[in-house]
Amino acid sequence: MLAHRDIYDDSHAQVRDLARRFAAEEIAPHFDTWEREGIVDRSLWGKLGEAGLLCPTVPEDFGGIGTDFRMHCVIAEELSYSGFMGPAADVSVHADVCLGYLLHHGTQAQKERWLPGMVDGSIVAAIAMSEPGTGSDLQGIRTTARRDEDAWVINGVKTFISNGQHCDIVITVTRTGTGRGSGAMSLIVVETDRDGFRRGRNLEKLGQISADTSELFFDDVRVPADNLLGAEGQAMPMLMAELPQERLIIAVTSMAAAQKAYDLTRAYVQERTAFGRAIIENQVTRHKLADLKTDLAVGWAFVDQCIRKHHAGELSTFDASMAKLWITEMQGRVVDQCLQLHGGYGFMRDYEICRLYADARVQRIYGGTSEIMKELISRNL
Ligand SMILES: Cc1cc2nc3c(=O)[nH]c(=O)nc-3n(C[C@H](O)[C@H](O)[C@H](O)COP(=O)(O)OP(=O)(O)OC[C@H]3O[C@@H](n4cnc5c(N)ncnc54)[C@H](O)[C@@H]3O)c2cc1C
Repeated sequence: MLAHRDIYDDSHAQVRDLARRFAAEEIAPHFDTWEREGIVDRSLWGKLGEAGLLCPTVPEDFGGIGTDFRMHCVIAEELSYSGFMGPAADVSVHADVCLGYLLHHGTQAQKERWLPGMVDGSIVAAIAMSEPGTGSDLQGIRTTARRDEDAWVINGVKTFISNGQHCDIVITVTRTGTGRGSGAMSLIVVETDRDGFRRGRNLEKLGQISADTSELFFDDVRVPADNLLGAEGQAMPMLMAELPQERLIIAVTSMAAAQKAYDLTRAYVQERTAFGRAIIENQVTRHKLADLKTDLAVGWAFVDQCIRKHHAGELSTFDASMAKLWITEMQGRVVDQCLQLHGGYGFMRDYEICRLYADARVQRIYGGTSEIMKELISRNL
């Protein structure tokens, strides 16, 4: 189902093969160790860069190959379908989320400074919006940036930040003005070797255990004034412009992981027997699989429509929110039913469905919760 879709061409098929091989050769042998340690190894980033799997949309002038976003979708699909949702999430935040802010809103100098490293993996990027006191309500953030001559001085705490342990730059949502108005917030890039920047612990999670997720502390961190991304007070318009891509890619990874759960389960119920026959011989099992297969077909049709629109520059906030809402919720239904069809083995970590189940849960939370997606969609009824 992943390949042979008319939104992709031969060049995407080649990158799909490359990403699938990379997952098998460079992730699979280390994955259990990373899951045990609760974080991917930093060397993964250099290997991804070397393989050409990081940020392929970056123009050649800045070290990339200047391809289109569909290539990012193919890479995200393959890492997720391979069952490596944690590493896939790390890569996605770097390449599918952070990159957009620099590519679309950065100055020439900022692009020269950071993009080549993001392509070769020597620079890992993170984006810090959420704080201990607020996540859904971004206008409630308390991290401040104060202008002091030719510098911004940043104070605050961020939490749940993907790539928090390994990141070299953090696109930080800060309050540069007063009040709740959207004009009071700015995006500032913070290099993590600045004085006053500190990483908290790598957070322990239910699923996506090897994904790198941390608290970050900013204590009078001084960064040059030209680390401001876009104009002062323009964080909200930039976030509004970039969040649809983030939500689309979450939907893309959910589709691939849900498809994997279905494929594994279909094979399992053909092999496993009870009462003298394969589980799939039960009509109730076949009907359940028929429901799941239908859900997947509908999901692929919609996600492909959204990818096509995004490629044409026409993906709206509403489309992206509907894709994230429906597809991540669908993934939740699929992994739950698939786990059930595995019986007790589904609850065992030795079985891949167990991890797919746990890894799926956060898809309905980060990038904006399902409830927030409904809020956004309901603005355009
Ligand atoms: C593994 C992981 C990785 C993450 N990575 C990042 C990252 O890289 N960068 C980053 O900035 N953040 C990241 N996040 C944070 C994530 O985006 C937030 O957790 C999410 O936006 C929800 O915010 P919250 O946790 O503060 O929940 P809250 O905003 O406190 O919401 C709690 C509950 O209330 C509901 N709710 C809130 N407002 C409304 C409303 N108006 N109407 C109805 N229901 C409402 C929510 O839907 C939710 O169910 C990550 C989170 C996780 C778990």
